[in-house]
Amino acid sequence: MTPRPPTPPAHPAGAPDPSGSDRDDLRRRNLAAVLHAVHLRDGSTRADLTRETGLHRSTVRALVAELVRAGIVTEDLAAPSGGVGRPSPRVHATDATRVLTLHPELDATHGALVGLGGRVLARARVPHDAPPTPDDALAAARELRDRLAPTGPLRGVGVAAPGLVDRRTGNVVVAPHLGWRDVPLGPLLAAALDAPVTVDNDANCGVVAEALFGAGRGARAVVYLNGGASGIGGSAADGGVLTVGAHGFGGEIGHTLVRSDGHPCHCGADGCLETEVSRARLLAALGDVPASELEPTLARVVAARPSTALAEIDRQLGYLGVALRTVVNVLNPERIVLGGFLAALVRTRGTAALDAHLARALPGARDDARVVTAALGADLLAVGAAQLVLRDVLADPLSTGR
Ligand SMILES: [Zn+2]
Repeated sequence: MTPRPPTPPAHPAGAPDPSGSDRDDLRRRNLAAVLHAVHLRDGSTRADLTRETGLHRSTVRALVAELVRAGIVTEDLAAPSGGVGRPSPRVHATDATRVLTLHPELDATHGALVGLGGRVLARARVPHDAPPTPDDALAAARELRDRLAPTGPLRGVGVAAPGLVDRRTGNVVVAPHLGWRDVPLGPLLAAALDAPVTVDNDANCGVVAEALFGAGRGARAVVYLNGGASGIGGSAADGGVLTVGAHGFGGEIGHTLVRSDGHPCHCGADGCLETEVSRARLLAALGDVPASELEPTLARVVAARPSTALAEIDRQLGYLGVALRTVVNVLNPERIVLGGFLAALVRTRGTAALDAHLARALPGARDDARVVTAALGADLLAVGAAQLVLRDVLADPLSTGR
C-alpha cells in the first residue's frame, strides 16, 4: 500500500455546486480534509480549519458536527475568544481512533497505543533474552495487544520493522540484525491479532513521524538519518509522504559510498556510510563506554584537549558530511533530521564539519538545507507506525476500517 497525500477539499469556497452522486464523494473528501487538518494540529479552531481547507465556514461547521456525532472529534466550546467577536471553538481528536503499533528489536518488542494527532496513549514492551524469532515476535504482539488494548475496537496495527520491507505485501525481505529473511510478518500478525496490519521499514516510519509532528514539520522535503546499534537507517518524505522509490526500498542512505577504500559492509559492498560512521567504532574510541554514556562522554572529549577520540569523532562527522552532500544534491531537502548517535555527535561537536561539506553541494540545492536533530524521542517509531494505519482513516474518516 502506498501512502496517500492529504486529500484536498473537493469543494473549496467559490467552486460551482456539485450534483447527483458526486455529493457523497465530495462530503467524504471534505471530511477527510477537515480531519487531516485536526490530525496535524490538534486544537485547531474552526476558523483555522476554514483557512486550512479553503472550505466555507458553514461547511466546516457542518463537517465538524458530523465528526463530533461519529465520536471522532470533540469541540471545546469554552475556548477563550482572545479578542473581539465570538470565540471560535477548538476541535480536538478523541481517543476513539486507536492504533496498536509494534516495533520488534534485538532486546525487546515495543508496543504502543496511538491516537490521532500523533498522541501516544499507552506504551509497553516485551523483553527478549535473545534476538526474537518471528514466532517470538508474534507471541510478543499478542501479549502487547492484550496489555494495551484488551477491550474496544482497534483501527489496525502498524509495524515498524528493522529491515527491508516489501510494503505491498508486508513481507520482511531481510532484517539482518534479527536474522530474518523472507518473513511474511504482515500476514502472520494479521492472523495472530485478527486485525488489519500494515508493515514498513522503521526509518520510513521515522521520517514520516518527524515530517508530520517533529523536527521536519512544515518543511517541503525531509531526509531522516538515524544512527543506532545496528547501523544507519535513512529515508525521505515530502509533505509527510514517502519518496523512497517504486517499492519503498529507496532512502538507504546508510549504504551510500563514502570511502572507496573503506571497510566491508554486511550488505556486500565496501565503504558504506554505516561502516565508516558507526556507533560501535565510536564507543570503542571513547574507551568502550556503555551506549547510555555516549553523549556525556562525547561532551567531555570535545571539551578536553585534542585526542585520538576527538579525531575519531571528527573523522565520522567528515564522512557523514560526504554522504549529506550527496543527499542534498540528489534530493534537495529543506531539513535533514538526524537521530540516535548522529544527533549526539552534532549536539556535542556542532555542525561545522557537516556545513563544510554542505557548502560544496550545488547552489540552489544547498540554500535551504538545514541540519536539525530529531524531536520525537522515544515516541518516534510509534507515531510513524501509527501513521501507516491512520492515513487510511484520514482518507475516509467515517469508514469502519473492516
Ligand atoms: Zn552497505
